[in-house]
Amino acid sequence: MLDRLAARQAPWDMVVIGGGATGVGVAIDAASRGFAVLLLEAQDFGKGTSSRSTKLIHGGVRYLEQGNISLVMEALKERGLLRQNAPHLVHDLAFIVPNYSWWEAPFYGIGMKVYDLLAGKYGFGRSRILSAEETIERLPNLQTDGLRGGVVYYDGQFDDTRLLIHMAATAADHGATLLNYAPVLEIARDEDGFANGVVCRDQESGRQFSVSARVVINATGMFADKVRRMTDPQAKKMIAPSQGIHLVFERSFLRADAAIMVPHTSDGRVLFAIPWHGHTVVGTTDTPIQEPSYEPLPFEEEIDFILDTAARFLSRPPTRKDILSVYVGIRPLVKAEGDGGEKTSALSRDHTIHIDSAGLITIVGGKWTTYRHMAEDCVNHAITLGRLDDVACPTRSLKLHGYYDSPDELGDLWVYGADAAGVKAIAAADPALLAPMHPSLTYCTAEIIWAVRHEMARTVEDVLARRTRALFLNAAAAISLAPSVAEIMARELGYGQAWVDHQVKDFQALAQHYLVQ
Ligand SMILES: Cc1cc2nc3c(=O)[nH]c(=O)nc-3n(C[C@H](O)[C@H](O)[C@H](O)COP(=O)(O)OP(=O)(O)OC[C@H]3O[C@@H](n4cnc5c(N)ncnc54)[C@H](O)[C@@H]3O)c2cc1C
Repeated sequence: MLDRLAARQAPWDMVVIGGGATGVGVAIDAASRGFAVLLLEAQDFGKGTSSRSTKLIHGGVRYLEQGNISLVMEALKERGLLRQNAPHLVHDLAFIVPNYSWWEAPFYGIGMKVYDLLAGKYGFGRSRILSAEETIERLPNLQTDGLRGGVVYYDGQFDDTRLLIHMAATAADHGATLLNYAPVLEIARDEDGFANGVVCRDQESGRQFSVSARVVINATGMFADKVRRMTDPQAKKMIAPSQGIHLVFERSFLRADAAIMVPHTSDGRVLFAIPWHGHTVVGTTDTPIQEPSYEPLPFEEEIDFILDTAARFLSRPPTRKDILSVYVGIRPLVKAEGDGGEKTSALSRDHTIHIDSAGLITIVGGKWTTYRHMAEDCVNHAITLGRLDDVACPTRSLKLHGYYDSPDELGDLWVYGADAAGVKAIAAADPALLAPMHPSLTYCTAEIIWAVRHEMARTVEDVLARRTRALFLNAAAAISLAPSVAEIMARELGYGQAWVDHQVKDFQALAQHYLVQ
């Protein structure tokens, strides 16, 4: 990738800043339309918000209640397209809304029917009202005191960074050049003040590159205002950052294949308890914050709030010592014009495309589920602005890298789809490389080697946080895996003991943030 960057003399059609769901989505769209596209990510793909979601590909039941029908319909359609194009990474999940009051079954029953209706031909399964017995059968760990029944509906679930890595591979398969650890430092401008390139740095070598481009796209999520100020130092803030936390527990807290959806928490939000990679994930919160950062910390009240709410719905209430990991993400919510101090849960979840007087395109907001539609919209704008050929967008039916329609047969390697064969091939001569590296996690040595060779993993954190999800599932287990992961990576990358020591120290310091005392 670096050689390609260094070799290119002609301007790129598009340079995309930011390697989260939004930026990588734009890179796929642009590359699959035949444009020359370069994507630059300051840290690792998914280091920002895109690794920290609730892991749902969903229409958003909450937005339905807010009356944002078009957002729900769009998301439901994208949900259907994503399952069609990436069945190895997006699957159906049953969600049950437990009912403890007489009015809840008809109320949520009707709401979910509307949700089914809006999905139309992209539906995932019919919602249904359940008796108390059926509800307990499907959710044996549910708090049964006062339970009247439930409503089951269907949505999608995924592994956010695994999808992102497969998306980056899809963009690369279509000719895009993508680099991680390559921050954009400046946006270059022509004599008329029009953005015509960027200056970026390869973090590992320290080498700087001046890159020219017809169009520059800012897809930096919560950091979008900082990048906008590279062309317009007076730019007013667009982003109202809001953080959300998730707590991860053992699977035994939710011994079920279905998730629990709590439609109204005490602060009027939605809370989910979902089965994920053999664990239980519970979240999320919505707390306005002042400044975005890569490793935000959970507030004590957020942890207490999730524990208290979970205790109302789970027969065995989880406590602080049951928390295996806590992860925090920042929503890049777009402020309303002239916005004062609006509650962030009421701010728009739609995406926004903003073009400044230097022609910098900024795309922010939206959600993981709608990345494809956001990318289509953004590239359409880029085509007009850059006077590029008007090529139609092919991504509605574009299969994502690793497409595999029966992932269940791949066992623990299901998240790799067709690439699972490559992971297994690494262990052909030594089947021990497929053995779990830790008793609490399924990850094996062959996956580490695969991540370094084929998925641009450069640090222990890349492997333990985003190529595998060890850090998000069990922070203590991830800490204990760090030394062996560093050794394996050093062998692959040709680094010595100093690199290993440094990596282990860095990772162990970072992982402290995912532990709760
Ligand atoms: C708690 C929470 C739960 C969520 N749950 C869901 C869910 O279940 N389903 C769903 O559909 N959506 C969900 N979302 C929303 C979804 O996660 C986000 O909309 C999406 O991840 C935003 O992606 P992004 O690419 O815009 O931002 P990011 O993922 O933050 O990517 C921006 C990237 O830009 C990079 N960058 C910044 N500055 C520079 C620079 N100068 N040079 C190069 N790169 C730079 C950053 O390093 C970062 O990687 C959730 C969000 C949160 C916070």
